[in-house]
Amino acid sequence: MREILSLGRYFQARFGARVRKIPISLQGFTCPNIDGTLAKGGCIYCKNESFSPSLIKIQNLPATITMRKNLAQNPLLQAQLSQLEEQFLWHAEFNERKFGVQKFMVYFQSYTNTYAPISTLQALYDKALSFEGVVGMSIGTRIDCVDEAVLDLLGGYVKKGYEIWLEYGIQSVYEKTLTLINRAHSVPISSAKALFAATRARGIKVCAHLIYGLPGESEEMMLHSLESTLGFGVDGLKLHPLYVMRDTQLARMYEAGRYEPIDLESYVELIVKSLRAIPESIVLHRISSGAHSGDLLAPKWCFDKNIQMRLLRERLLEEGMVY
Ligand code: SF4
Repeated sequence: MREILSLGRYFQARFGARVRKIPISLQGFTCPNIDGTLAKGGCIYCKNESFSPSLIKIQNLPATITMRKNLAQNPLLQAQLSQLEEQFLWHAEFNERKFGVQKFMVYFQSYTNTYAPISTLQALYDKALSFEGVVGMSIGTRIDCVDEAVLDLLGGYVKKGYEIWLEYGIQSVYEKTLTLINRAHSVPISSAKALFAATRARGIKVCAHLIYGLPGESEEMMLHSLESTLGFGVDGLKLHPLYVMRDTQLARMYEAGRYEPIDLESYVELIVKSLRAIPESIVLHRISSGAHSGDLLAPKWCFDKNIQMRLLRERLLEEGMVY
């Protein structure tokens, strides 16, 4: 029986204890695919509040101020630092009280978390790593928003003994699909190979995200995206189904009958095939996804992550794999 290296198992082996990722959403962070730098409107499925319901607006600060690399001054910084502290302490206290967890990874989750002046990033990351029990950070970003300065900054934390993961959204390796979903990368997807190598050369771990069920993609294409992404060189993967949130471009396609979500059985079989192809040393950060929010339109099975996980675990057991 093969034991899949889930993130929980990886953390247990690495730190000798349970580690919880604490999601952080900071006002002012955005994405070059939303603010007009590369495109407007974002990816057709993007609704950041759906994966960050805790996104808290800072009182009395104009919503028009947003992060950019070249922002001369960041008037939100003090408020962002307070917001970071408030969110971290709330989640840490909850996890310690309810589950007895005492080690944490700070997870900068919403939007593109390396898309800000380097001084802002350093101030936020320094603060995140200063909290009691924090063993590292996970930072969600895009392949066109990480430069040498960011890598050097993060590599410095690795040298101090912290565990640092960069979570890069790949989603698909097909440029046609990426255009269709308005991913608007300013670099070709193939450039991920060199970027991942530069990231890993500094001891920073790479987790690549892939979405199954993107419009127009066959199972063969999805498995090819997986194979290519493994070829880029990764330490971890996050696999999840595409789901439709209200008030997105994808919702309009779905309502017009131009998009059909992947069904549960197909998704489960795809995960089984994927796990057969993924080397045992790769950390599986996630193989399912769901949204409890009333904003979820389809597929209905994404309302309940527990059902997905039960089915996935049962099916994987049949294949000699324990998740
Ligand atoms: S890259 Fe991420 S944050 Fe930016 S538009 Fe796409 S899903 Fe949203």
